[in-house]
Amino acid sequence: MPTFAAVEDAELEPSACWCCEAVDTPERMVHLGNHPEVAMCLGCARWAAKEAWEIEDLGRTGLVVRARDRFRAMRRGVVDRGWHRHRVFGGPLRWIGKRLP
Ligand SMILES: [Zn+2]
Repeated sequence: MPTFAAVEDAELEPSACWCCEAVDTPERMVHLGNHPEVAMCLGCARWAAKEAWEIEDLGRTGLVVRARDRFRAMRRGVVDRGWHRHRVFGGPLRWIGKRLP
């Protein structure tokens, strides 16, 4: 079992995302509270938060929940068509996507 000092030493090294394996400095990674050795890049952490929000919304109703579902459906439509990679519109679409549910 690693000691606390070993975990601290490991945090000084660039670490890989446990989801997509992207490598970044530990300060730019999200670490799980009880398992700091588990790191996620910011993109995967943002994705996980949106997934959690969507799961929470499954048990909710209301106008705001329906609006978030519509935004999610629009995002899926954009990604399915590959518009988020468009040379001109891709950047703005990705910017909007990061700020919507
Ligand atoms: Zn990642």
